[in-house]
Order: sequence, then structure tokens, then C-alpha cells
Amino acid sequence: MDQRDRIPIPSLYGIENWGNSYFDINSAGHLLVKPFRSGAGVDLFDVVETLSARRCPTPVMLRFPQILETQIRELHQAFQSAITEFGYGASYQAVFPMKVNHRRDVVDELLRFGSRYGLGLEVGSKAELYVALALPLPEESLLICNGFKDDSFIEMAFWGIETGKRVVVVVEQVREITNLLRMIERTGRVPMIGFRGKLYSKGSGKWEESGGQTSKFGLSSIELIECVRILRERGLERALKMLHFHIGSQITDIRKIKAAVKEASRVYAKMRKMNLEIDYLNVGGGLGIDYDGSKTPSDSSANYTLQEFANDVVYTISDVCQAEDVPAPTIVSESGRALTVYHSVLVTTCENRTDPGLSTRVAAGPMEEEDSPALLELSEIARDITVKNFREYYHDAIQQREELFTLFDLGYLSLENRARGEALFEEICERALRFARQANYQSDEFELLEKALRKKYVANFSVFQSVPDFWSVGLLFPVLPIHRLNEYPSEYGVLVDLTCDSDGTIDSFVDVKEIKEILELHPTTDGGPYYIAICLLGAYQDVMGDYHNLFGTVNEAQVVLDERGQYHVRKIVRGDGVGEMGGIAGYPPADLARGFSARIEAMVRSRRLSEEKAAALLEEYRKRSGEPTYLGQSVDPPR
Ligand SMILES: *Cc1c(COP(=O)(O)O)cnc(C)c1O
Repeated sequence: MDQRDRIPIPSLYGIENWGNSYFDINSAGHLLVKPFRSGAGVDLFDVVETLSARRCPTPVMLRFPQILETQIRELHQAFQSAITEFGYGASYQAVFPMKVNHRRDVVDELLRFGSRYGLGLEVGSKAELYVALALPLPEESLLICNGFKDDSFIEMAFWGIETGKRVVVVVEQVREITNLLRMIERTGRVPMIGFRGKLYSKGSGKWEESGGQTSKFGLSSIELIECVRILRERGLERALKMLHFHIGSQITDIRKIKAAVKEASRVYAKMRKMNLEIDYLNVGGGLGIDYDGSKTPSDSSANYTLQEFANDVVYTISDVCQAEDVPAPTIVSESGRALTVYHSVLVTTCENRTDPGLSTRVAAGPMEEEDSPALLELSEIARDITVKNFREYYHDAIQQREELFTLFDLGYLSLENRARGEALFEEICERALRFARQANYQSDEFELLEKALRKKYVANFSVFQSVPDFWSVGLLFPVLPIHRLNEYPSEYGVLVDLTCDSDGTIDSFVDVKEIKEILELHPTTDGGPYYIAICLLGAYQDVMGDYHNLFGTVNEAQVVLDERGQYHVRKIVRGDGVGEMGGIAGYPPADLARGFSARIEAMVRSRRLSEEKAAALLEEYRKRSGEPTYLGQSVDPPR
């Protein structure tokens, strides 16, 4: 028996470590999503089968808007309880940074749930601001304009003031303040002004370089002083309302956060002492998510909870303000990842189509006297390998295979015999590995073998469209089957996507101790789709995907629970069709149909295609424009 068989299935996938109580397994062995963390859950297998019947097949992105609601509440409550615990003299306000997930479904829901907490928006570009201007923000919530700004950006920010929004224009560079002053002069309106400071403290993790002295953004202390001087010169220092910092996203180590907030608080306090009435201290984003469940400062994790984050931020600011004897500021955070990450899950199918019997059949061919000694030797090794001798026999097999390749290169071996040799070698490897696991024997050599023998599961999705951060920065995401979770997954696999790109592979998986290079999966040759979920895709992944190989967006569905614990599919959005993808690449469907039709006409003219066939073909071509870019469920021919 394999050592791993003793690990219970939920722990095998680490659900209790990374799931934040949003995921569970029911008695049928199906993955559940529990939008309120406790109480009823949504059976994903059931949802996917229902959607499939409604012609919304996998790959499908399932959105759980109620998770957004839960996360907003938890974020707010975490700060509220820290404020109470430390007797903090001011309040907390969250803003949602639009770049994390600018989709309407997400932003609308966030604003709707967030209205009771005064949730505002943070924008970092003209396009984001353009959208934000049209959205219903609650009275007291903030609209924070970050990012590099040209005159037009600043002008649009002023439209926000005209329409009654609480706009904060955050100055990122000294030159922006001159443009800002010009606009103030022209319009006679004064926005709330923020200064983005550059801290000496850096973040940690993948986005470490976003902070620190070398950061792309923010004002150094020299520049801060200069900007204050410029404001004072115009008598506008009362407009300075916010001090903003952002040391990067996914800060994995709480000590970095503490250090940064401490430094930021000190800057705030010293500016207060310069007689500047700054109301808001904005600590930016960075609240980390424990994607791999290890609770460590490793890249895909975070060594703190939401409550610890809130406690440390509130306590640190409070502590510095008391020591400096300045009023406590309203605390603002721009926690985007934390609000959205749990709310969407991609479900798709995967399949290992390699015929497990093929090697065995090829290897089982009879051996003849005249066969090469290397082949005969491999055949004997395959027969005699045991748990006692597997290491030695495996080494012998490697040597014999070398021998076979040499013979083949020299022309002394037929292709059939080479195939038999390779099949025997594969069998030996499989057995050696099984014995190694049985004996709990670990060595670099057998780890490499394990890696080499991972089964390739072809998964119906594109890494570049759906999980871009796995490819670009190696961020890990939890992957697991959504059914058969009461049946031990006996295979060790990796996922290969549909793109013709060797990077389109998911071959590292979350684990508490280390990064796993295999994923435990079930055999898929016994019919029926095999569904897997890639979880925690709600932040950034949702909006940063690209169209590699012209795989477009996947189908989407929103799922909500009612008071009785019954789920409902609220909204279905179809993914891109092949024609739409052509359009995106500069081939409008009408042009394509014209081009295809010209080909057909040429064939008809030269009598290589009949008129009827031509008409039917063109008709089919036109109709197929809505064909999904991903694979459909194929009906298997009988084997
Ligand atoms: C990206 C960004 C955020 C969001 O950070 P998260 O780590 O996702 O919370 C917040 N503020 C600014 C200025 C950003 O650029």
C-alpha cells in the first residue's frame, strides 16, 4: 500500500488549509462551496451538470457573489473589532481597487453589499475612472485616483467632484501637483488631495519590488516636503487630506506590513506636526492570501490572518499617534485581492487518454532466440523486479535501454524491437516506482522518476486565459476534482492545457510542506466527464487573461444560495465563439465568410466542388461562427 493512501482525501488537497471555510466535501464525495463559510453549501458537481443541460458546458467560471458579501463583512468586522480592542479614536473605511477585478458583475455586487460599510473605489487609469464616474457610490465613500495622471485624467477627476463624489486625487509625482493646481485655478474647485509616499520599507513575496526606495511610484521625503511647500505657497495646504502608501500586492510576511505601517504612521504624525490636517491614512493593498494553505511567508502564502492584519495596522497606527500626540486618522485600506479572490472557481474537464494497456501489450510480445541480448535482459528485469531489488534492477534497466538505443542508431535494431524495448522499460519504471513508494524509499533519482512518469491530463482550458499568474509569476492555485472525492485518487498527474505552448501546463500544486509536483487524480478511462476545479481565481486572474491561440473567455454563471439553502443559477454569460475571436484578431466574421466564399467559388469554377456542396459548406462555415473555442464533449466511438 502507498504511504499517501493514509492521508484523508480533504487533507490530500489541503482544503481545510487554503479554503478559508468556503470549501467542503459532502457525503457524495462532491466539492461544496459555502458562500457564508458556515451553513449550507453549493454542490459544484450538481451545478455543472445542471449548467451542462442548459447548454452552458465546461469550461465554466462559477461566480459566487455572496462570497464577495462575506469577505466585505469580514474585512470590515476585522477592523471594527481591532478598533474596539485598542480603543482606536477613529474609524476604518475600505476602498476597492478596480484593477483587481474590474468586471461589472464584481464591482456592482461589491458596491451593493459595500454600501452599508461605505466601501469606495480606487482607480489607477483613465478608463477605470471613466467607469467609476458612472457608478452609484454611497455618499460617504471615497473615490481615490492613483496612478500616473495627465491633464485629462485630472479633469475627469474634477467631474467626480462636480457630481458630488468624494474624490481624492493622489499625487504620485511632483509634476502632477502643478497640473493639479492649474486645474484648481481653472475650475475654482478643490478636490481632496492625497500624497503617495515612498517608504523605505519593502514588501515581501512576488511583488516585493513594488515598494521601497526604488519603487516606480510615490514621493520621497524630499519630494513630500517640496509638494507641501507648493501647496502652502498657494494657500491650499488644507486640501491635503490623505497620505497614501502601497508597498505591493500579496505581502507574504506580516513583519513587512508592520514595518511599513510603522514608517507610514510616523510620516503621518510628522506631517501632522507640520500643521497639516490630514484626515486619512491609506495603507494601500497587500493583504495576502494563503493560496497554498501553508501559513508561511512563502510566495503563494501569507503568515497571518485577516484579523492579525487588521490588529497590526490599527495597533501600530494607534501606538505611533499616541507617542507623537497627534489625532488618530481614519484608516483606509485598498484590499482588493482579499475581497475578491475566493469568489470565483473555474470548473473544467480533464482526461488522461493514454491507453494504460498499450505498453503492456507491446511489451508482452514473445521473445525470440535471435532478439538482442539487451531486449532479452529487459524482459527478464521486468519479470523479476521486486520490492527487494528494485533499485539495482532499475539501474540495470537504464543501462540496457542505453544499449538498445546504441544498437538502433547503428542500424542493428528494428523499429518494432525498439518499441518493445521502450515498452518493457516503461513497465520496469512503473514497477520500480511503485516499489519505492511501498518501501517509503526516497531519493533524488526516484523523485525524478516520479516526475517523469506523471500522467498528462489534457484539460479543457487555457492557462493564459484563466490562470495567467501561474504562468507569469508562478503563483500556485488549488486544483482538485469536484467529484469522486470519496474514492481514492490513484493516479499522479499534471494538467496540460489546450494551447500549443509548452508553458500551458500546470505542474506545481499547493501543499502545506512544499510545492507538490504531482496532483492526485482519478483514472478517467471509465467514461463520463471528469471535472476539476481551479480555485481562488477571483483576483487578477479574472481580468488579466489573454487570447493565446485565440482561446477566448469561458462560459460563466453566477450561483447564489437562498435562505433555505437551495442554490440558484442567476446569470449565464456565454464565452467567446470562434468568430468573435477572429474579430478580436482583426478578421470580422463577415470578412472571413467572404474570404471562405471566394475559396469555394474558385473550386466550383474549376469543377472541383459541386454547387450544392459549395452552398452547404458556406452555410456551415457561417453558422459555426458561434462555435465555442474550447473543446466540446465528444461522443466516444466504441473501443
Ligand atoms: C494593486 C493595488 C492595490 C491592490 O492590492 P491588493 O494586494 O490586491 O489588495 C491597492 N492599491 C494600489 C495603489 C494598487 O496599485
